[in-house]
Amino acid sequence: MSERETMEYDVITVGAGPAGLAFAIRLKQLKPDMNICVIEKASTIGAQILSGAVIEPEPLNELLPEWGANPPPICIPVTKDEFWWLRDHERRPDRRSCRR
Ligand SMILES: Cc1cc2nc3c(=O)[nH]c(=O)nc-3n(C[C@H](O)[C@H](O)[C@H](O)COP(=O)(O)OP(=O)(O)OC[C@H]3O[C@@H](n4cnc5c(N)ncnc54)[C@H](O)[C@@H]3O)c2cc1C
Repeated sequence: MSERETMEYDVITVGAGPAGLAFAIRLKQLKPDMNICVIEKASTIGAQILSGAVIEPEPLNELLPEWGANPPPICIPVTKDEFWWLRDHERRPDRRSCRR
C-alpha cells in the first residue's frame, strides 16, 4: 500500500460559507504565520453560496475594509427597502417600510 501524502496545519475550519471564511480570514489577519486550511465539500469555494443575496455589509466592511474599493460587478448598493402585504385580492405597501 502506498504511503498517503500528509500536510500539517495549525487550524482546520470545515465549511467555506460566510462563517468559515470569515473565521479563517480573521485568524490569518491576527496570526499571519499560522497555516490555516479551509475544507469545503462543494466542488469550489462559493459553490453552495446562494446568488442574489441581500447582505448587511457592516461585518464585511470590518473584516475587509478595502473590499468596497473594487466590488464585484454584481454588487449594487441598496437605496431603499419596501415591504408589501400580499393578500387574496389586494397588495399594499407596509407603512413601516423604511427608506434610506
Ligand atoms: C434560500 C436562502 C436565502 C438566503 N438569503 C439570504 C440573503 O439574501 N442575505 C443573507 O444575509 N442571508 C441569506 N440567507 C442566509 C445565509 O445563507 C446564511 O446565514 C449563511 O450562509 C450562513 O453561513 P454559514 O457559513 O454559517 O453556513 P453556510 O453558508 O451554510 O456554509 C457552510 C458550508 O460548509 C460546507 N460544509 C458543510 N458540511 C461540510 C462538511 N462535512 N465538509 C466540508 N464542507 C462542509 C457547505 O458546503 C457550505 O459551503 C439565505 C439562506 C437561504 C437558505
